[in-house]
Amino acid sequence: MDFSLTDDEAALQQLARDFAAKEIRPHAARYWEEERCPTEVLRAMGNLGLLGLLVPEEWGGAGVSTVGFVAAMEALGHADQSIAAAWQAHVTIGSLPLLLMGTDEQKERWLRPLAEGRALGAFGLTEPGAGSDAAAIKTRAAKVDGGWLLNGQKAFISNAGTDMSFGVTVLARTGEDDRGRPSFASFVVERDTAGYTQGAKMRGIGWRALDTRELFFDDVFVPDDHLLGSSAGGLGQFLRTLDVGRISIAALSTSLAQAVFDLALDYAKTREQFGVPISKHQAIQFKLADLATEIEACRWLTYRAAALRDAGEPFAKVAAMAKLRASKTAMHAATEAVQIHGGYGYMMESEVSRFFCDAKVLSIGEGTNEIQHLVIARELGC
Ligand SMILES: Cc1cc2nc3c(=O)[nH]c(=O)nc-3n(C[C@H](O)[C@H](O)[C@H](O)COP(=O)(O)OP(=O)(O)OC[C@H]3O[C@@H](n4cnc5c(N)ncnc54)[C@H](O)[C@@H]3O)c2cc1C
Repeated sequence: MDFSLTDDEAALQQLARDFAAKEIRPHAARYWEEERCPTEVLRAMGNLGLLGLLVPEEWGGAGVSTVGFVAAMEALGHADQSIAAAWQAHVTIGSLPLLLMGTDEQKERWLRPLAEGRALGAFGLTEPGAGSDAAAIKTRAAKVDGGWLLNGQKAFISNAGTDMSFGVTVLARTGEDDRGRPSFASFVVERDTAGYTQGAKMRGIGWRALDTRELFFDDVFVPDDHLLGSSAGGLGQFLRTLDVGRISIAALSTSLAQAVFDLALDYAKTREQFGVPISKHQAIQFKLADLATEIEACRWLTYRAAALRDAGEPFAKVAAMAKLRASKTAMHAATEAVQIHGGYGYMMESEVSRFFCDAKVLSIGEGTNEIQHLVIARELGC
């Protein structure tokens, strides 16, 4: 069993690390304060080929392995979680529905600009009344002459409201099948479509630079060629993209845990109390030793999920395990890292405090941790 990165994967990680060191980390506090998605940074990442990592070269992407994507995430998420969150939402759930469900014509039209970094992708599933219970969505798509009429509302949708957003891929109810069960399909709604509007940017505890909004669909007409995949049974297709999203959140979580660990270790070695660096106190050493061990376990669980996907093996169970484990570790690591920083860690001027705020959402987004338990239990045959 070889856990090392290939030369290409290592080069990609280095590219991401260099970019993050120069263009992200020095400005992260400002992006946080401005509460604005810095699309100029995402465009620069696009110029480096980082926005199309999981899209094949044929459609303008870099076609790297999932392992390579995780390696890049380790570098980007270590510098700033908001930008890494926007980036990963674009690369996974923002782009993959088009790759997995789109026709060649649709890929040329919408996927290529996303993969080439000219536009930002968004994925609209959640609604005010339907989060974990995705099948409870109420947004409807009614068949009309030449297309579909969409009515409804989405909640907490990331990347749909920036000056770089192409629009959104949304899931809607299309009717009922022969047995009376609701059927669903996915549609592309471009940003300037009549009747499609966005609410104000929402303000989170963390991920301050991520653009997340409510979306409204009021008699939005989309032509037939905006339907992705089949007009019935789109729920399963749409939800499958979340499995990759879970690997991504696991990687983001691991990167957060590593970032706060590194900050805490540095601080512990320099902060002196009772005449010695606090890293010489055994209580602090045990915290650091525990965290280092937990982070290592999360890292390899995440890479294992990624490697399974790359090998074409079933990966949903391990992806859910990785997301569950790593998001818990991220929260725990952030709490302990603030503790090690003492009062300074509590202040918003400290870098560690921003990561602390960013940690909570990792156990909520892309399927809450309770839902990860359900997914894992189902995979176990319970
Ligand atoms: C910053 C941010 C960005 C987001 N971006 C997007 C996006 O781009 N696109 C998108 O579609 N969505 C997005 N979401 C939505 C996210 O996926 C949902 O918030 C998440 O799926 C949970 O749904 P909910 O918030 O409605 O919570 P609910 O589903 O209402 O859950 C509330 C609580 O009940 C628990 N619960 C629910 N059902 C069960 C059950 N069966 N058993 C046990 N416990 C249960 C949950 O675990 C949770 O603790 C985003 C959310 C956030 C916070």
